[in-house]
This record gives sequence, C-alpha cells and structure tokens, in this order.
Amino acid sequence: MRTSADGTKISFWLRSAGALLASVVCCVAALAEARAADAPAAAGDAAPVGVNLANMDTSIRPGDNFFAFVNGTWLRNAEIPADRSRWGVINELTELNRQRTADLIKELSAKPSVPGSESRKIADYYASFMDEEAIEKLGFTPVHPALARIKAISDRGELSHWLGSTLRADADVLNATQIETDNILGLWIAQDLDDPARYAPFLLQGGLSMPDRDYYLDNSPSMKEARRAFQAHIEAVLKLAGIPDPQGAAGRVYALEMRIAAVHATRTETVDVARGNNHWRRADFDQRAPGMDWGKFFAAAGLGAQQEFVVWHPGAVTGIAALVGNAPLEDWRSYLSFHAIEHLGRVLPRAMVEQDFRFYGTALQGTPQLSARWKRGVSAVNAALGDAIGKLYVARYFPPEAKAQITAMVQALIKAFSRRIEHLEWMAPATRAQAQAKLAALKVGVGYPDHWIDYTLLRVVRGDAYGNAERSELFDLARNLAKLGKPVDRSEWVMTPQTVNAVNLPAMNAMNFPAGILQPPMFDPRQAAALNFGSVGAVIGHEISHSFDDQGALFDAQGRFRNWWTDADMAHFREAGKRLAAQYDAYRPFPDLAINGQLTLSENIADVAGLAVSYDAYHLSLHGVEAPTDHGFSGDQQFFIGFASTWRSKMREPALRQQIVTDGHTPEEFRAATVRNIDAWYPAFDVQPGQKLYLAPADRVPVW
Ligand SMILES: [Zn+2]
Repeated sequence: MRTSADGTKISFWLRSAGALLASVVCCVAALAEARAADAPAAAGDAAPVGVNLANMDTSIRPGDNFFAFVNGTWLRNAEIPADRSRWGVINELTELNRQRTADLIKELSAKPSVPGSESRKIADYYASFMDEEAIEKLGFTPVHPALARIKAISDRGELSHWLGSTLRADADVLNATQIETDNILGLWIAQDLDDPARYAPFLLQGGLSMPDRDYYLDNSPSMKEARRAFQAHIEAVLKLAGIPDPQGAAGRVYALEMRIAAVHATRTETVDVARGNNHWRRADFDQRAPGMDWGKFFAAAGLGAQQEFVVWHPGAVTGIAALVGNAPLEDWRSYLSFHAIEHLGRVLPRAMVEQDFRFYGTALQGTPQLSARWKRGVSAVNAALGDAIGKLYVARYFPPEAKAQITAMVQALIKAFSRRIEHLEWMAPATRAQAQAKLAALKVGVGYPDHWIDYTLLRVVRGDAYGNAERSELFDLARNLAKLGKPVDRSEWVMTPQTVNAVNLPAMNAMNFPAGILQPPMFDPRQAAALNFGSVGAVIGHEISHSFDDQGALFDAQGRFRNWWTDADMAHFREAGKRLAAQYDAYRPFPDLAINGQLTLSENIADVAGLAVSYDAYHLSLHGVEAPTDHGFSGDQQFFIGFASTWRSKMREPALRQQIVTDGHTPEEFRAATVRNIDAWYPAFDVQPGQKLYLAPADRVPVW
C-alpha cells in the first residue's frame, strides 16, 4: 500500500486515515539527520523532567484555551519541518525512533552476518532501498512484466484472475485500522467475530487512489481541487512510465475511479461493526455480486478452498463486481496499468517518487518537501521486517524495569476502571458483572510481544529493491493465509515495538502498548506520578475504555460479537454519546468544515473515560498523601497539564482537512479540550462560567 509523506501511521493519535477503534499517539523534538552518526543517548537523559514551562503560555486563561495555555509558546515558535505535514509529540518520538532504527541498521550492516539470517535480511533490504543508482538504471522495467500481462487481458475471466492476484493482506478493520487499499479489495485475516475460536478472511472495499470517496464525490472547493490535481497526476505517471496516449488513458483511469468511488461505503458506515459483519458463503458471491468471475478471483488470491468470508462492504463488493462485468475492458486495462505502476512507486526511479510526492504529499497533505531517502528506507524496512527490528530495538531501548513500571500502571488503571464500573448506577447489575469479567480477561501487552514473526520464508535479494518489496507483500499474504484453519493466537501483536502508538484489539480483548510510546514525555520514571498518569496513564485509560465503549459493548470477554449490554444500558450510553457528539460537532477548525462528532465519537468517549480513570488511578497512587508541587502547580494541575502537553502538535491545513474528513480521531487541539468534561479540572484551574471552555455541570459528559 502507499505510505503517506510522513511514512508513518498513527493510531492512538491518529491513524493514517481509517481509525475505528484505533488508539492514541504522541511525541519529541526534531532530530536532524546530522545526528545519524552518533549513537543516541537513552531518550530520557536529555528530556526535561517535570512541567515544561518553556512550552506553556501562562498569559492565556486555562478556562479559555487549555491547549494554548499548556502549549502556546511552543505553538508560536515551532515550525513544521519541510518534509512533514504535521509536527508534535508523536512525530518527535517517531523521528527519534526512526533515527535509532537507522543506527541499529547501520551497526549490523557493518558487521559480517550469515546469509539468510535476520540481520542480513535487514541490512540487504535497507541497502537495496538506498541504492538509488541501481534503481535509476532499471527504470520502469520492474513493472514491465505486470504491464504486459495487463495489456493481454482480453475477457472478464482474465480480468478477475488479475484482480485476485493483486489481493494482499493489507487491511485491518478493527485493530490497527487500515481500511483503504489501492488494490480492488482489501483482505484482513482475523478471528471470526461470531466464532472467535477461528480465523476468517474479511474483504473490504478498495481500488481508489485518493484517501476516501469524499475526494471523488464531495463538491467543496478543496475536494474539487484535489480531483483536478489527481487527473494531472494520473497523466504524469502514465507519461513517465511510457504508456501510449497518456492523456486518453488518464481519462479512462479517472472515470473508472469515479465509478468505484460511487459504490464505496462512507467512513461512518465503515465504522459500524454490525453493518460490516456479513458472512457470505462462497456461492453467495456469484448470486449477490455478479460480474466478477469469483472462482478465478479467489483461486488467484490463494483463497480457492475457502468457503466462508466476511464481507465488510457488501454494497461496494456488489458494485465493484458489476463494474468488472460491465465497464469497458479498455478502461480496466488503463486503470490496472496505472495502479500497477503506482503500487510500488516508492522503489521506482526518482522521477516517479517525486511525482507521487507532489500529489500525495504536497497536493493532498500540504507537505512541501519529500523526506530524506534514509527515512523512507527505515520505514520500508520497518514495514517488511518490523519484528526483526523490534527485537533489536527493545533489547537496547526498553529495559525490564520500564516494562515492570508500566505494567504496574496498567494494573492501577484496571483497578480504577473496575471501581468505576462497580459504582456505575445507570448500568444493570448483570451488565456490570459481565464488564468485570471482561476486564479480568483483558490481555495487556506491554513493550513487545511474547513471540516474534518468523521471517525464514521471506527472501531478500541485495540489489533488488522492487522484488524485495513485492516478496515482502507476498510473504505477509502467505503468513496471514496460513492462519486460516489454525487456532486463534490472542498473543499476536498488530504493531511493532518501535511504533509510537498504542492500540486496543477488540476481538481479542487485548491491547498493545509498544515500547515506542513508553518514553519521555509520555512516560518518564524520573518524573512526578501526576505527569505520568496525565500522559501515558490517560493513553492506557483510553485503550481500556475502548473495551467498554459503544464498540466494546459489542464484543464479550472472549471477543465474540455479542452485545452484552441491556437495551436500557445502551440507551443511556447512546444518550451520553449523542451529547458528546454534539459537543464535538460544535468545534469548527475552518468556517466550511466542522469536526464530525459521530465519526469521532468512539475516540472522544475513550479520551474522556481514559482521562477520568487515570485521574482516579493517580489519586489512588497518592494513598492520601498530598502531591508535591512543581513550579507552583498542584498535583491536579500537573496531571491536567501532563494530559494537554501530550497533544502538543501543529498541522498544515490540507493535512488537517484530510484528518477531519477521513480519521476517527479528533484533531489534537480539541482532544486537549477533553478536560471540560472532568469535574476536577474546574477547581484545579478555577475555571468559571463565561470562560470559553466552561461547561455547566449538567453539560459535562462523563460517560463512565
Ligand atoms: Zn482510540
């Protein structure tokens, strides 16, 4: 799949674009490439401990703009690096980890290694990606075999076969939330939501180059501009690759993508699990989605023997199959040629990489400058051999003491959550008992997984960047297809340890807190408990809350899709949700674009609940002793400052607009305003009626 200009996906923060139940994210400072040479010190050593006054703007009243009170000076002075669409805590940590990963790769590249070993694979994968000269020399020849096969497609059966052969394990509906794919459909192998003891293949809509159907169908000026730029981009790519009549072909590609977009489900529909959990038998495809030769499609995808599927977007699957049956074959051939060139464009010649960046990076996200090649190289190795890197990363940067401390915090949060459930008056006793059972069964992973992906079957050839990228995708596909028919492994992780993020896995009743996010300023063993609970504590609380929110209510302790709430519980929760959605609907980052309170509801509930529960856990941790002050700030003030400081971030306008339209996470500035819903925030900062963030007690939405 295509990676964004920043090359990273963010989930507790924001995800690249999907984000259903996704998690949070956060971050540090610009690490210049110049640092590449020296081994970075442990992150904590250089970071300030305690409330970071230098970032704050105490001339602003906390009750008017808490985000700016905590981050105002930084916001005024920080500049988004030219190769970024956004900058903030998460990006800083991501950058730090990227630098560390580059150093690890360099170190092991300098040592002799056994052919076929993980070290050799990492070194060869990276070296091949970095060998621009070899890539330039090859030109577009790596795509030629695919283009020749596409050119030879002469009927719907061959078309179906080709489409099946491009299926990859590139989607994830509920965990890491990757819901777009440039292939015609996306595939996710995960536990069956009706029968969590076994795996099922989930099929998602796909086939679009731009991030969402809105980019094709919405008539706002910015979306119209995106479409204009897209048409020019298609033609430029086809021209670069030497496709005859690029203008005519581009028109056909665009027309077909418009037709595909028209049958796509919306984001809001996609996040509705009940809408997506559709079990289709193999025979159903022929009846319900005619046009595609499904026998050929599934055989080519390696799913020829599979009898049962989950079709997440039935309308889109039906619509796309109809287009396979009736859109002109010439349109399909142009479309497939364009997609074949684009798919691994990052390992094609520089002119192609730059063209892609001009469109996906600059036009769609506002990022002026392509990131350095080594950064993209690190991202590529992380995507292909993430666990192999992760092993090295945690050995150096995640000491056992950190794991022990965070694990203790997780236990404190779980205990605090359990007490909230116990005292929840609106919830029926039977539901409360099930919630407690689910909490007790929760599988929390801290730092890194119990076992690692085995890369033995991934062949890495030095000097073949394109082939390595192709084989890596096929390795992931085979590894995932092999799960079908085997028992479900609840200990599997969906993020690498070096990822700066955290995630809830609803169908596994599990969560991952990668080592990458468990470092300053999110967590620092040297700083006051108030700050740790305000920052990483709220992240942990956020993830726990996902197990018990409107989505979590849909999955029981075993991860079965079974609503364990009574109707009255659900009615109460929905009422609270409606009020919270209205609160966020009122945030207008632009005159023509407001936050979508419904799209972001799950995440906003998790923010409120996570902060509330972490506040409880913090107070439990004090054991009745008054917290020490820091720069005159009380314990409670430090707690809330710690929270708002994790949202320190600024974005370029197109990227912010893209997030609002496509992402389940509210932009950072408004996530910091979560504090409005917590009673304790008001006395802590003497917030009074008339101040901009003030909510009357009845208008605060505590949810839990
Ligand atoms: Zn979340």
